[in-house]
Parts: sequence; structure tokens; C-alpha cells
Amino acid sequence: MDKIIALCKRRGFVFQSSEIYGGLNGAWDYGPLGSQLKKNIKDHWWRAMTQLRDDIVGLDGAILMNRAVWRASGHEETFNDPLVDCKTCKGRFRADQVAATPCPQKPSQCVGAGPDCQLTEPRSFNLMFKTHAGAVESEDNLVYLRPETAQAIFVQFRNVLDTARKKLPFGIAQIGKAFRNEINPRNFTFRSREFEQMEVEFFVKPGTGREWLERWLEDRLAWYESIGIPRKKIHVLDVPESDRAFYSKGTYDLEYEFPFGVQELEGIAYRTDYDLSRHQEASGKPLDYFDEETKEKFVPHVVEPSAGVDRTCLAVLCEAFAEEEVVDEKGNKEVRTVLRFAPCIAPIKVGVFPLLKNKPELVAKAREVERLLRPHMAVFYDESGAIGRRYRRQDEVGTPFGVTIDFETVEGIKEGPMAGRTDTVTLRHRDSMVQERVAINELVPKLVAAIR
Ligand code: ATP
Repeated sequence: MDKIIALCKRRGFVFQSSEIYGGLNGAWDYGPLGSQLKKNIKDHWWRAMTQLRDDIVGLDGAILMNRAVWRASGHEETFNDPLVDCKTCKGRFRADQVAATPCPQKPSQCVGAGPDCQLTEPRSFNLMFKTHAGAVESEDNLVYLRPETAQAIFVQFRNVLDTARKKLPFGIAQIGKAFRNEINPRNFTFRSREFEQMEVEFFVKPGTGREWLERWLEDRLAWYESIGIPRKKIHVLDVPESDRAFYSKGTYDLEYEFPFGVQELEGIAYRTDYDLSRHQEASGKPLDYFDEETKEKFVPHVVEPSAGVDRTCLAVLCEAFAEEEVVDEKGNKEVRTVLRFAPCIAPIKVGVFPLLKNKPELVAKAREVERLLRPHMAVFYDESGAIGRRYRRQDEVGTPFGVTIDFETVEGIKEGPMAGRTDTVTLRHRDSMVQERVAINELVPKLVAAIR
């Protein structure tokens, strides 16, 4: 994990928030490559949900909502974690995680296990951040930063239903920021106080919820596979009834094998009609559905696949990270660090390199290839240093392809079946390091197909 964190900082994936002022615990900034990686993951999810299927529509709700939403949803009363204080080190910890939290004074032991630890009885701590909407700070204008994106979907159910003219089963998808005042933010970006979620509320007829829960489990596992996280690395936890919310009739946690342990990536929950019913009751506004076929009116049930963008990014980074021994051009062994991102989410798709920067004809041709590719994908042009070093730099940030413009590009291929042909380049593949000769006019279709 230390190596991955170091790489993230060194190459501009993730920085500590407010770093020059000593940072802010639980907040992270995504740098040039990290922000692109994160955007690609979100775009891939959004496309899978709202473009490749016709039963899900999108929503982009506000972070600030009427406080009544959080009263009705139960968050104001119950969105709590158990908190314990240690009278010796003055640390604050989540009572249900002390066994996995190192003691600040004796990191070889966990919190509570050291001879000097003095833990208080657990007390409830509400995780919602509070602020005030308006100039005066009073109880009347108290608002929360949303701790999940889902509630905007529930409270806009009627508006979406009326405007999108969807029939059950259908879903509403949303990506956005969520905030939780976590007691112990830790494990890099895994547990943060500010993070992003990708959530679908999928509305179904009562009686079909279990079936849809199973379908969503399959869909989501296939989606992770499509971004390079194989099924065998995801543990599916069938959450026992005793650990589920009282209204849930089934929950799967998808857990990934992070270097720091097997931890939750996404929760898929069959939440019955709990949320819509609560809001219908509290707002006095109808949130039911009229079924044209059966002429029945009912409150839809919901299955919710809820994933974390930051946790997905982190899982993708962990899965992609590899160090392998290779032999360089001079025959020396060296360690190659490579991020094996699936091409569809890689922040840079292709590196373009003139073999030598002091040969104007090679540079001009390389700039031409760069201009050809740029409208179709993220390109990185690099002319400095030995070509092997330039390849390594792109391997380390997960660029799946490299295009090198050499003398044969401008002067023509010297021998073999393609002898005499100009305007061909070397296409290098990141994972296999295999190089092939490709005509410049074949590059766009070939690469576009590979990065989709
Ligand atoms: P945990 O048990 O790890 O606190 P949770 O069960 O409370 O998570 P949910 O409320 O189900 O999480 O939220 C859905 C998803 O949002 C999680 O699976 C995770 O990917 C993401 N998420 C939740 N809390 C955080 C956080 N503090 N930092 C980053 N991502 C988070």
C-alpha cells in the first residue's frame, strides 16, 4: 500500500488536501491523472447505467436539502457510529473498529489492548456535517451536507416518474459528493470525510425485489470485471439479517481484497418500500405508482446498488499496480513499475514519441500523429529522454499504448514484405511490451476500438 500511495503522489494521482498547511484529515485532492481516472470511472458507470440500458434515467440532485428529508429518512436520529474516547492518549475511535485500529501510543497493539489504554463507554455520534443556509446561524436554518446521494432520488421520484414517463421496473441513477464526519478516516482514500458515490435506486413491483437483487448482483460484478477488477477478487458477503437495516430484505456487500484487508466496495440492498413510504408519510405527498395493467396503486419497492467512486478508484489502482523484472536494451535487469489499467478507464490512452528530438522530420511527423489522435482520445506527447525511459514513464501511469515515430516512418521500411512503405509507426503494447508496425492511417480505428 505504501508503494501505491507513493506512486499516487509522485505521478499526480492523489494529493493530500490542503497539504501546504499540514493537510486536512479525511479529505483528498485528485491531481491531473487521478481526476481523469476518476472521471473515466464515473463516465463508464454512467454510460453502463443510462446509455446501454433503457430502464434507468439520471438525476443530479443538490447537496443541500431541506432538513425534513433527513428527519423522514431516519438519518437525523440514527445515522450514528459508536464513539469511544481513550482517557490516556485522548484519541477518539469507532467502538466497533477498535480491534482493527492501531493504538496511537503503541502501534503494535490495537486500541484498548495496551496496558495504559482507558476507553470510555461507547456513545452515539451523528456522522452528518451541519451548516446553516442563510446569514443567521440558528436551529431554524440548519442544513446538513448530504451523507448519501440516494435521498434526492426518493424525494424526486414523483417528478421523474411524471416527466420521464417510465414504467416499473425502472431506475434513477446519480453520481455525486457525499459527506460523513467519520470518526477515524483511514486507509488512504478508502474512508474519507468527503467522497463520491454512484447510486441507483431501482424501483420494482412488490414481490419482485429478491429477484432484482440477484440480477443486480450479477450486473455489478460484470461491471467491475469490465473495468479490470476480476470476480475472484471480489468477495460477496450475504449480510446476515442481524446486521441489516430492519427494513432490508436482503443485502449483498461487494468486498475487494485491498492490501489492508477485505473491505466494502459497494452495497446492494433490497430496501422494500421503506424510503418512499417514509417520505410519502412525512411530506403528505403521494409517492405511489399506478399500474395500468393491473389497475393497482402501490408504493414501489427498491433495490439499491450503492458504490463509492473513491473506493472504486482505489481498488482499480491496487488491482493495476505491478512491479516486474525486465531486461533493458543493454541487457541489464531492472524493475518495471506498471499500472495495468483497463484501457477504457486509463487516464492517458496513448503516448506519442519521436525517436529523437533533434531530428525535425521525426518531430514534425510525431506532432502530426498527435494532432490526428487528439480528437479521439487522451494523448501524451513526450520527446525527452531515451525511448526506453519514455516507455517506462507511461507504464508507470498506466498508458496502454505507445506510438513511436522513427526513421522508417519518414524514409520507408528497409526490408521485409512492407519494404519501401512510408508513414508507418511502431505501436507498443504496455502489458506485453510487444511492438508491431502499423500504418498511420490505421491508428485511429485500431486504438478507438481498443479503448472503448
Ligand atoms: P462502511 O461500513 O465502510 O462505513 P457503509 O456500509 O456505511 O460503509 P454505505 O452507506 O452502504 O457505506 O455507502 C455506500 C458506499 O459509499 C460504500 O460501499 C462505499 O463505497 C462508499 N462510502 C461510504 N462511506 C465512505 C467513506 N467514508 N469514504 C469513502 N467511501 C465511502
